[in-house]
Amino acid sequence: MENRISGTTRLLGLIGSPVGHSGSPAMYNYSFQKLGLDYVYVAFDVKKEAVGKAMEAMRTFGMRGMNVTMPDKTEAVQYMDELSPAARLIGAVNTIVNDDGKLIGYITDGEGFVNNLRDRGIDVAGKKITVAGGGGAATAIQVQCALDGAREISIFNRKDAFFSRTLEMAEKIQKEKPGCIVRAFDLADDAKMKEEIDDSDIFVNATIVGMKPLDDQSVVKDPSAFRPGLIVCDAVYNPKETKLLREAKQAGCTCISGEGMLLWQGVSAFKLYTGQDMPVQEVREKFFAVQ
Ligand code: NAD
Repeated sequence: MENRISGTTRLLGLIGSPVGHSGSPAMYNYSFQKLGLDYVYVAFDVKKEAVGKAMEAMRTFGMRGMNVTMPDKTEAVQYMDELSPAARLIGAVNTIVNDDGKLIGYITDGEGFVNNLRDRGIDVAGKKITVAGGGGAATAIQVQCALDGAREISIFNRKDAFFSRTLEMAEKIQKEKPGCIVRAFDLADDAKMKEEIDDSDIFVNATIVGMKPLDDQSVVKDPSAFRPGLIVCDAVYNPKETKLLREAKQAGCTCISGEGMLLWQGVSAFKLYTGQDMPVQEVREKFFAVQ
């Protein structure tokens, strides 16, 4: 690493809190080295109240860009000079490109989801998708699926602080993409959930259910909702195989874990920063379990 850092090396980074567990620095720095690109990527623990200062620093240091993780994703929006269509709809950014002082905000989580499916030969266009969740990951998935031509999106969220946002987003997406039918329901309505899954091509969990410490739970209470041919995806990537995916696999579904979405959202951000393709296969082999 030290051999390739020089006076011309440009800085990229990740902000959020905590960031110590992030695999992004390893993934990006490996890719820069592999492609001979003159960048270095570092993680910075930045609390929500310091996001404005981080944006100022990005300009001062001439940084090429920043990834943004929780809890800074919505806070950073107000500092952007321009937003991608998905970032505007969602009101959050996870990738900022600094074009000579002009900050452009993107959200690549939804692209990561869609491109991970595409990598497995699945296109969301024309599909009916049922999504559990109304938070950051879920909204990004819903918006990108609608932008990429999904036929119908049914959203389930529990009646917590995210529920009103879920209803609002459903309405917003419907307005933006009138050709896509978007409806939202209460996650507690198990019968409705089964009915919607029966009629869907793809089911996605994008809640925190399945992630530690909720790793003994699944948003689908009744596994008889699963059938061979149904594609079941989890945004959760820790653990790699959630209870949802285990039960769906037993029922003969095609199962896709959250790790691939994580990889592909990084691939999209890498392209935005460098204009080049991340060496996906090498990165996958080195840093990810999904091959
Ligand atoms: P968030 O805090 O924005 O949203 C949390 C969601 O979980 C909301 O819909 C909330 O209603 C729901 N929820 C919380 N507790 C619940 C419970 N007990 N029962 C049912 N629903 C419950 O979180 P987020 O950033 O959207 O992250 C959600 C998951 O997606 C996390 O596991 C995160 O690690 C993962 N994620 C994965 C990727 C990826 O690239 N694979 C990207 C972003 C997030």
